[in-house]
Amino acid sequence: MQPGESFALRPGVAMPDWPLVPDPAGRAALSASMAVAGRRQRWSGLDAAEDALWQAVLQGFIATGQPPGQATLATASGLDAAVIPARLQSLRDRDLLVLDAAGRITAAYPFSALPTPHRVRLEGATQPVYALCAIDALGAGGMAGRDSMVESTCAECGARIHIATRGHGLAATSPRDAVVWSGIRYAGGCAATSGCALKPFFCSDAHLDAWRARQDPDGPGYRLPVAVAQQVGLALFVPMLRQPG
Ligand SMILES: [Zn+2]
Repeated sequence: MQPGESFALRPGVAMPDWPLVPDPAGRAALSASMAVAGRRQRWSGLDAAEDALWQAVLQGFIATGQPPGQATLATASGLDAAVIPARLQSLRDRDLLVLDAAGRITAAYPFSALPTPHRVRLEGATQPVYALCAIDALGAGGMAGRDSMVESTCAECGARIHIATRGHGLAATSPRDAVVWSGIRYAGGCAATSGCALKPFFCSDAHLDAWRARQDPDGPGYRLPVAVAQQVGLALFVPMLRQPG
């Protein structure tokens, strides 16, 4: 997908929300990641039942830090509990969530049921929630409509990184020179399990450069200041819980 190009996630809701990404590098990174993951093909044309179930999964993560159980999903989505396993499979086929062998939800963008390096504390939530990658962590607060604290580590040295988001902006970033790498993956497969390792935080440009030199010196991707990585995350995740009109 080209910068500025979007599709209808649900009637009246454009995905991604390009006006949230004024930065040119952010627009290029978002465009590349939308294209590589085949998101237009996989994410468009959700039916109302799939959409209701998907949003119930996301709201469960926001409320408790974990995916909701089937009884909660049935109540929240209005679907008969008997059809939920098959509906979850169809969301899995769209790469909107990840299931384990027993059919339990292990991830739903931007959230992970399993620990990751990126922990997000949403204002008002009783438990923190794990995010799949740096961009997901930065977009989670805006998606939930809440301020957030993102706690992560430098992928090169392990130094702690703390970012406070407020509305669609940043209230604080520590260390101040922290950056995000948005690696682009050309292989097929599930973006949650392979692509997210390519989108970490670094404490500095020097550590991003050292990491890239070891991992994949020519691997394509974009260096994004934290504020720009947040723009990319907002454009991708705010539409997911946006209601038409
Ligand atoms: Zn570092």
